[in-house]
Amino acid sequence: MAEATVLVEWFEDLRRGDVPRVGGKNASLGELIGALAPRGVQVPPGFATTADAYWRFVEHNGLRDVVSGALAKHEAGRLSLAEAGRHIRRAFLAGDWPDDLASAIRAAYAELSRRAGAGEVDVAVRSSATAEDLPDASFAGQQESFLNIRGADALIDACRRCYASLFTDRAISYRRAKGFDSLKVALSIGVQRMVRSDLGGSGVMFTIDTETGFDKVVLINAAWGLGENVVQGTVDPDEYQVFKPLLADPALVPIVEKRIGAKAQKMIYAAEGDGRTTRNVPTSRAEREDYVLGDDEILALARWAGTIEQHYGLPMDVEWAKDGATGELFVVQARPETVQSRRGSEGFATYRIRSKGRTLATGLSIGDAVVAGRVCVIEDAGDIGRFVDGAVLVTRTTDPDWVPIMKRAAAIVTDHGGRTSHAAIVSRELGLPAIVGTGDATRVLHGEQEVTVSCAEGDQGFVYDGRADYERVPLDLGDIPATRTKVMLNLANPAAAYRWWRLPADGVGLARMEFVVANLVKVHPMALVRFDGLRDETARQAIADLTAGYDDKTEYFVDRLARGLARIAAARFPDPVIVRMSDFKTNEYANLLGGAEFEPKEENPMIGFRGASRYYSPRYREGFALECRAIRRLREAMGFTNVVVMIPFCRSAKEADRVLEVMAENGLRRGQNGLEVYVMCEIPSNVILAEAFARRFDGFSIGSNDLTQLTLGVDRDSAELAELFDEQDEAVKWMIRNVIVEAHKAGAKVGLCGQAPSDHPAFAEFLVECGIDSISVSPDSFAAVKQRVAAAETAAGP
Ligand code: PEP
Ligand code: MG
Repeated sequence: MAEATVLVEWFEDLRRGDVPRVGGKNASLGELIGALAPRGVQVPPGFATTADAYWRFVEHNGLRDVVSGALAKHEAGRLSLAEAGRHIRRAFLAGDWPDDLASAIRAAYAELSRRAGAGEVDVAVRSSATAEDLPDASFAGQQESFLNIRGADALIDACRRCYASLFTDRAISYRRAKGFDSLKVALSIGVQRMVRSDLGGSGVMFTIDTETGFDKVVLINAAWGLGENVVQGTVDPDEYQVFKPLLADPALVPIVEKRIGAKAQKMIYAAEGDGRTTRNVPTSRAEREDYVLGDDEILALARWAGTIEQHYGLPMDVEWAKDGATGELFVVQARPETVQSRRGSEGFATYRIRSKGRTLATGLSIGDAVVAGRVCVIEDAGDIGRFVDGAVLVTRTTDPDWVPIMKRAAAIVTDHGGRTSHAAIVSRELGLPAIVGTGDATRVLHGEQEVTVSCAEGDQGFVYDGRADYERVPLDLGDIPATRTKVMLNLANPAAAYRWWRLPADGVGLARMEFVVANLVKVHPMALVRFDGLRDETARQAIADLTAGYDDKTEYFVDRLARGLARIAAARFPDPVIVRMSDFKTNEYANLLGGAEFEPKEENPMIGFRGASRYYSPRYREGFALECRAIRRLREAMGFTNVVVMIPFCRSAKEADRVLEVMAENGLRRGQNGLEVYVMCEIPSNVILAEAFARRFDGFSIGSNDLTQLTLGVDRDSAELAELFDEQDEAVKWMIRNVIVEAHKAGAKVGLCGQAPSDHPAFAEFLVECGIDSISVSPDSFAAVKQRVAAAETAAGP
């Protein structure tokens, strides 16, 4: 006797390989439930009807002849597509259920309701088409779904409509175009417990960073209501990022990003009890101002994402939903992520120019890329709305207000600024070519003009007329040699930190906290501490808006700063990440929201109230306490124990003692919980009294920018004196050589994090000869420096 035909299968009994029997969608749900439910991942339970069940329905109602007859007439031009489709669908909708099939579906539904502990459970009824001979064919999205179905009769009716939907006009013409025989395609029906995300929320998560392919974070998007809006990108969802390697410890909360989205609308059912149609409604103010998920839920989803990725052995794209009625979370779909995982490390390259137009402007080159595009001149931050995506941004200068359009530019050209200017540092991290300090770009270039921006020709950058003929030569990371000297990265923009994760760096040698404050916090810490007493009404209002959702204003500073730094720490974990406490100058602090009230006016801010001197001063002490709180959160609550603290601009040993004391008062005691504290070596006194500093700190990082300025007495920002600002001057080299020797005698480590080796790779050779322990460079010059270091090490012998 032939084996009994299986008409209905429980999801947990299905696997990936069952596509021919139940279609791709149901097979993948089966895989999810079968393999992952035992590991704690919740997937709404359910069952599927098989392809055999479909054929049973077709035979029982004599539908083969109906289908072939109508399609033949359509082919012959006697029926329009619409007429043929309607004819076939009517026949399906009028069909009777074979007794055994109807009772199998009813019995499974009764069992599903019993398992859910409900009289009659709400279900989603979805179509999953399958071509037996072509199991890989994708029919996704072609057939209908019916949501929110309750009761066996309603279910049976929805199943019939699912079958009929195999013959929507669109599905018929799709199969015809692809050469599939409509009589060889079957339909499996998935019946799954309904997740009431219309009352809760839903979204998508990826097990890698979708921008860069960084594989240590889970990215979660979340919006209120049904998931459609997030999938289609019609709402601006919340975004959370979780760092995977620290998820295993239940005491840690490694949520490295929590950005609230506008979530202007949510999708719900058009009418109660009618799951077929949905509509968007505006969200309430409370919904817009609140996160869709709490921390525990974010962590739970991220853990599931990790489990799913592990099971499939691939980066995955996962849909999730939260039932607003029960508060439960579910995974509802999982498929391999395709964009980033295929891209590999293609982002790295060098450039060669074959022929080019007239030189229109020159300045300092930042980065090493060549880009052609149309000019968009914007002179005032108030006009940034006019920026055209993908254009070459030409401007006088930039500050944090410009970052949103800088991110969307093909290249950046400024009139003013040097290698350590905002435009230069931000472009470098965004991986964009920039030419800074041209003097006249905003005057000589004009909107819509086609130009080529070249940073591939050494120190000088060129803007050429028209589109140059150039070539991009990808850089093979495998060609970067290993070195004894550690080569680290200077990173300060959390939004761009993951971009460089593939570089074989030994950690972050300098993360400038003030950049993170300027980018993500935007408010002067003292203006948060003393918010109630603020005199500047405009600043007060702006701060109130920014800190909406934080009961305690100082918490806003700590939260934003800790998460921003966390992304930099995550990018290189577990290698050391040296976070330097804030080193704004007073004029820069004054530019932060509410800052003017707290900063003295100075004639020479560069040698004024900056660095260590602020931290113990009554003027700033409470602000520094917030910086310390952020570091503690980063190390203790999130788990980034790879974070090392660094003190900038420390003029004397006495100052060092006072700072270390204030840090200890704020819970950051050197040596406790493995905390290391470094000091910048950027003032001649740091070199002269190296031994005294070495006793107080775990290491030095040479700031060649300030050390050159203060050794030669040359203002580092002066265009007039640019020629005199030379880090390779013998006096500066003497300083560097000496501090390395003295520090090593005292048992302290020495690195260098100034701009010099990034701009002059030969400088790296000098540092290696001096026996430096580490060199930290901007990411775009990493490969060149690494090569120089390797060569110098070889020349020096073992
Ligand atoms: C330096 O002075 O070399 C340095 C790295 O610090 P900053 O450029 O931030 O002053
Ligand atoms: Mg400095």
